[in-house]
Amino acid sequence: MKKILEIYKEAKGPVYSFEFFPPKTPEGETKLFEAVGELSKVEPGYITVTYGAGGSTREKTIRITSELAKKFSLPAAAHFTCVGGNRDEIRVILKQIRESGIENLMALRGDPPKGEGTFKKVEGGFGYANELISFIKDEGFDFCMGAACYPEKHPEAPSLDFDLDNLKRKVDAGASYLVSQLFFKNSIFASFLDLIRKKGISIPVIPGIMPITSFSQIERFKSMAACEFPDKLVADLEEVKDKPEEFYKRSVQFSVNQCRELVQMGAPGIHLYTLNQSPASLDIVRELKS
Ligand SMILES: Cc1cc2nc3c(=O)[nH]c(=O)nc-3n(C[C@H](O)[C@H](O)[C@H](O)COP(=O)(O)OP(=O)(O)OC[C@H]3O[C@@H](n4cnc5c(N)ncnc54)[C@H](O)[C@@H]3O)c2cc1C
Repeated sequence: MKKILEIYKEAKGPVYSFEFFPPKTPEGETKLFEAVGELSKVEPGYITVTYGAGGSTREKTIRITSELAKKFSLPAAAHFTCVGGNRDEIRVILKQIRESGIENLMALRGDPPKGEGTFKKVEGGFGYANELISFIKDEGFDFCMGAACYPEKHPEAPSLDFDLDNLKRKVDAGASYLVSQLFFKNSIFASFLDLIRKKGISIPVIPGIMPITSFSQIERFKSMAACEFPDKLVADLEEVKDKPEEFYKRSVQFSVNQCRELVQMGAPGIHLYTLNQSPASLDIVRELKS
């Protein structure tokens, strides 16, 4: 399986990648495989599979990442978090991941399980992603590791500068590329990138893009990721919130324009948060590749 950093290094154009989550039911899994089948038509650079909040999808994440990679002959990354395990437990899971043929990890601190407001470090475990990344390197695992970054600041960080110092720690620990939290204003991403480079971080930074599929998602994204929305986008989508076809068209067109501008700004790729749905991500990448 190809390492993700090599994919960015060798790419002649933007690398499109897709993120999925492990479904709860067998029916959901069948739909996921259908969605990946559809999305593989646009020849993504790689795919990723998330690790459920609280580490709840451990087995599924490993199995699904490995099965999708084999079935669709795609490079893949399994997300992995510090949640729910001490060093010994984490070492065992990492071995399992590696033995399943996965060579790429998205290394994260992780979100707490549902219902728990704050992240709690397990005794003998890790409190931050940089500690996990250092551990993985020190233990001699040869994963290519990505890490998360937050153009509008991680919600727990007291300031963007504080957050960027911590981002630098993750990079220094061994992250090979960064994938951003979703955002809708490219100007915010541009100034974030500027600050990142000033901190001495030079690895690829991949914008994370989420197509909006319903008007109610806007409020959800605001509270989940504390992100700003362009007023015009909100007004345009509100106007057609009860007309699904027109809503879809406008939303996809917004994402296409956003991605096109990001690529023009020099983004090495676009990471699409698919929510396991193929149509919007497929239409966006088809349009960008046309
Ligand atoms: C692309 C992407 C994919 C994701 N996938 C998943 C997933 O699959 N599963 C999941 O559960 N969650 C996922 N998340 C969410 C992520 O787990 C949460 O945002 C989590 O709260 C932070 O994870 P992190 O790895 O960025 O943490 P960290 O980098 O550890 O940062 C967390 C907070 O601690 C601060 N901090 C970091 N290091 C230090 C330090 N050494 N000292 C003091 N403060 C520090 C940071 O500034 C930040 O505020 C994803 C997020 C992104 C952007």
